[in-house]
Amino acid sequence: MSVLVTGGAGYIGSHMVLALREQGEEVVVLDNLSTGFRWALPADVPLVTGDLADDALVDKTIKDHGVKSIAHFAAKIVVPESVADPLGYYLGNTVRTRSLLASAVRNGVENFIFSSTAAVYGNPPVMPVPEDVPLQPVSPYGRSKLMSEWMLQDTAFAHGLKYVVLRYFNVAGADPGGRTGQSTPAATHLIKVACQAALGLRPQLEVFGTDYDTPDGSCLRDYIQVSDLAQAHVAALAHLRAGGDNLTLNCGYGRGYSVLEVVEAVKRVSGIDIPVVLSPRRPGDPAAIVAEVARIKATLDWNPQFQNLDMIVSQALAWEKRLANHQAA
Ligand code: UDP
Repeated sequence: MSVLVTGGAGYIGSHMVLALREQGEEVVVLDNLSTGFRWALPADVPLVTGDLADDALVDKTIKDHGVKSIAHFAAKIVVPESVADPLGYYLGNTVRTRSLLASAVRNGVENFIFSSTAAVYGNPPVMPVPEDVPLQPVSPYGRSKLMSEWMLQDTAFAHGLKYVVLRYFNVAGADPGGRTGQSTPAATHLIKVACQAALGLRPQLEVFGTDYDTPDGSCLRDYIQVSDLAQAHVAALAHLRAGGDNLTLNCGYGRGYSVLEVVEAVKRVSGIDIPVVLSPRRPGDPAAIVAEVARIKATLDWNPQFQNLDMIVSQALAWEKRLANHQAA
């Protein structure tokens, strides 16, 4: 009996594969390798290369591996790209999730862990934001994920599938053992980009907006370390297997750092005074988004280990170095 990890060759999915294996779980990965890599997986983890919308392939994978639980990571995640290509995002995220849910129902899958996002909140009315505020995503990306949440809830109600939705805040860092990390060349996330600038892989770091209504004028985000995030999924699966209720949970630490604080952390940890350019606001960025974490603390047996910005930055930096060497080799 295996856990099916869609998008398991990608950034968060590959950390999930490691976390599941450390629990002694059998795993099968389904990934189209659009942004993931075979080398991000342990060699003995089976990888099915293909599309979530390929019903025959997904049905066969579920049957062949006795899948009773799915962790669904495979998705497109770049907000500005979703603004430029909304239909690509609704196809890649919403329509493909619908196909996967149909396969899950057809084949008697019991548990479904879904990767959602704080982008479902848009500009939240309260901070830290609890799960049950009105949801007003401001990007096609956020909407594509919110529609998937709704499909999952309706499917669970109709067919008895059990689920946990995890709404990620800002995922960062890398496996502390250096086995995997954020490897997408086009990734635009702050900590990755700042580490690349520290290593001279980018000429500078742009800070998008210093006139927000925040303590230092730059945006506040809740950065969560990726292995801690994977452990939240493991805890969510244990919760469902133990008969726990369906849940929708924020996944963050409940503490915000500003862009300028992150830049200082990267300078401090790397010892490099990275060139910083203060730029205008980036369209679509909410000023501040920090998780209310009372619900996840109350419902899951989750014990984050890496709740420290400098540690997250040092892991991200180590991973960028490895990746640069790997790509040079
Ligand atoms: N950001 C920045 N420069 C960059 C990348 C990001 O100033 O090169 C800012 C961005 O405007 C936002 C914060 O860092 O305020 C986090 O952005 P990121 O893209 O990492 O994640 P998001 O919050 O958009 O999911």
